[in-house]
Amino acid sequence: MPNTPTVRQIAEFLEAWAPLSSAMSYDNAGLQVGNPDTEVRTALLGLDMTPELLNEAKTLGATLIVTHHPLLFRPLHAVTTETYVPNLVWRLASENIALYSIHTNLDAASGGVSFALAEQLGLADTEFLQPSESGETGFGVIGSLPAPIRLQAFLEIIAERLETPALRYAGDPEAPIRRVAVCGGAGSNLIAEAASCGADAYITADIKYHDFFNVLDTRGHPHPALIDAGHYETEKFTESLLVEALAKQFPQTAWRRTKTSTSPVRTFIPPKR
Ligand SMILES: [Zn+2]
Repeated sequence: MPNTPTVRQIAEFLEAWAPLSSAMSYDNAGLQVGNPDTEVRTALLGLDMTPELLNEAKTLGATLIVTHHPLLFRPLHAVTTETYVPNLVWRLASENIALYSIHTNLDAASGGVSFALAEQLGLADTEFLQPSESGETGFGVIGSLPAPIRLQAFLEIIAERLETPALRYAGDPEAPIRRVAVCGGAGSNLIAEAASCGADAYITADIKYHDFFNVLDTRGHPHPALIDAGHYETEKFTESLLVEALAKQFPQTAWRRTKTSTSPVRTFIPPKR
């Protein structure tokens, strides 16, 4: 049986797959809190750092939490228990639990966030929607459905596979969909790319009202169909993606996907009047 890995060894493995140098300039991925020499017998994976996640880690006896979204983005001026982020930093340190975040470097990695989303939607022959010059990294993914289906039927599949309470979209429900582009999380910046790559539909999140106008043709008909499936909903499969990769590399550690939804967003559907 190989030795129990340390936080440092786990970080090195993740950064060989998704180098920190490929993260966006605004990002703050990597080890956020903790001692790199901490041994990791149990670790917990979640999309976001929340108090519930910390409670779950404590119950499991986990010494490492890996999240996609970094907890620390801006410099902290004080670490007290009075506000959300500093309180979590305080609690992590008090409980001796390390926090590691793999963010836009995993978005850009081959087999990363958008590939996990594409797989969940059953897309085949997937490749980067916007590859880097080397082709080794990129943003978004484009692929094909096994057979063309109407947008209406595809919306039902998306809602079921991503377990979304609702979908915001612009598109003709009767339009045939075969080529599909996806980008986990906020991907409005790739709408033009999806259109120029011949996508019949583009699925991402955090789409602003005016972005929906960018897919209208001269008659005002939307093409490609533009679908906002929610930020959490398009990225939550990153949790199992990481569990699988880490369990393969470090089988001696127990890798657990959180049982909680870390999204604070709820959808209110009014009762029928
Ligand atoms: Zn995100």
